[in-house]
Amino acid sequence: MSYSLYLCRFVGGEPAPMDETAIRDVLAALEGLEAEDGGTVDVDGDAHGLTFHHPSPGRVLVLDLDLDLVAELARRTGAVVVPDGRPAILTTEADRRHLPDNLRAEAIVVPPPALTGQAIALAVAPQPEPRRRPALPRFPYHPDPVATGSVAASDEPCVCCGQERGWVYTGPVYAADAPDTAICPYCIASGTAAERYDASFTDTVEGDVPRDVVMAVLTRTPGFTAWQSPYWLTHCGDGAAFLGPAGTKELAAYPDAVDHLRRQCATWTWPPDQVEAFLGALDKDGAPTAYLFRCRVCETYLAYADFT
Ligand SMILES: [Zn+2]
Ligand SMILES: [Zn+2]
Repeated sequence: MSYSLYLCRFVGGEPAPMDETAIRDVLAALEGLEAEDGGTVDVDGDAHGLTFHHPSPGRVLVLDLDLDLVAELARRTGAVVVPDGRPAILTTEADRRHLPDNLRAEAIVVPPPALTGQAIALAVAPQPEPRRRPALPRFPYHPDPVATGSVAASDEPCVCCGQERGWVYTGPVYAADAPDTAICPYCIASGTAAERYDASFTDTVEGDVPRDVVMAVLTRTPGFTAWQSPYWLTHCGDGAAFLGPAGTKELAAYPDAVDHLRRQCATWTWPPDQVEAFLGALDKDGAPTAYLFRCRVCETYLAYADFT
């Protein structure tokens, strides 16, 4: 891969001279380097701007060494590294205002200690285009399964439909013969996965709700991972919408959910100080964890908690 890099110090949008001693030192070091094929790095320019150009491919070792020298030069002179076709690399945010207009918005800042040849190589490397992923099916009882961690971006094909849908379900599957690999959220939404594997994605639906609600929650809604067998909260005769695992910090914005939890703890016949200690120790990622829901009818927030 041939590439070129431009090194320049900018003041008020215009090139300004770099320290000549630093340039001489680095160019002298560059001269001593020669690739196995005899090729060298071309350097053009002067103290107002230097272009480093690698004409031939397959010279990774020399390329790394060269980039270390380029990094050294940028650190010593306060110059900006401008890789061909990539955002400019500044060593301090304060220099952004000195960049020409066309470089200013996209420039990235790499502080001097971190500005190594490898850091430049990473900035120069072509970035893979992020894959556009299709919209997820609508899950009335689990409105954002990516945010809750139950669905993840993946290029793995779905075990059920065989298609690469860009998303896979990462929560529990309750089935006598559960598949070893991932199911896509589309096969959950359509009920195909539940039917094929005689599976449900949640263990229990709490409370008294119509059977079609129970079936929708158990078999056509992504479940969630909990410390114990998860159960789905209901309110106002309907399944509630699952909003995700939550700790004390996340629950602070939902006092009605905390009250709901407090009432749940009361049924465990814990003394009040133990209940409050428990409510203060909830952790989104470590036990005990609360699971936050919102009633789809009255919009009350609800939660239950479990632990290992
Ligand atoms: Zn599928
Ligand atoms: Zn309600």
